[in-house]
Amino acid sequence: MALHKTRAIVIKSINLSESDRLVTFFTKNYGKVKCVAKGARKAKNCFWGSLEPMSLIHLIYFGKETQSLYRLNHADIIESFQSIRDDFGKLYKGVYFLELIDSMLLEGHSEKPIFNLLQQSLFALKEETKLDSLIRLFEVRMLSLSGLKPQIDHCVTCKTIIESGTFRFSFIQNGILCRSCSRRVSTDVQFTMGTRNYIKKLMEIEIKTCGRIKIPKQQEEDIEKFTHRLVLSHLGREPKSYPFIKSMAQSI
Ligand SMILES: [Zn+2]
Repeated sequence: MALHKTRAIVIKSINLSESDRLVTFFTKNYGKVKCVAKGARKAKNCFWGSLEPMSLIHLIYFGKETQSLYRLNHADIIESFQSIRDDFGKLYKGVYFLELIDSMLLEGHSEKPIFNLLQQSLFALKEETKLDSLIRLFEVRMLSLSGLKPQIDHCVTCKTIIESGTFRFSFIQNGILCRSCSRRVSTDVQFTMGTRNYIKKLMEIEIKTCGRIKIPKQQEEDIEKFTHRLVLSHLGREPKSYPFIKSMAQSI
């Protein structure tokens, strides 16, 4: 029985029996893992507060390497992110981050850059009030770190660098096409040079500074259509939590 110690973020937690919970963690060292938390539903259990979704914890768990289900041994809160769960507008954005992680990652593969992306995005979600850019940033970086980085510098077919005019993007090719190649390959969306530059910025900036980017309204809408459709085309379905983000945005 190997004992594993790692930093982790709680992805989801469901009841398994009257006293136990099944918790999915995204761990820094071992990727996504599932653990049974024995006795976690009993009110006095010290793990109770640390198993809320989004909580950043020090986790100790054990089990055989060949197993897919582990046993939770200990969990200490580093940051509860309670203020995110207390604010509906922020809560659904955090849930959306967790859903993308859960849908796109397989169990048992260490993904430290993606762990860092989620950890820093949750801290930004906690601190910031202007959050649309953060969602776009998370979408495009999550895909890029998963090996699905969209090519927006040069034509995905003939490698011609495109520096002006309209950018025509194909979701199947996962990249832009120059004027000549786009006559032979159909494209799905178009955006301007300015929009392309904002997307590049979202891929490169420090996450904690994301709230300071001022994107004009029209370009913000174009970026949303682009990054969210990227998610749809790679996931093959609409994430369950996304309609809640949209309806929250419209009610504000
Ligand atoms: Zn081309």
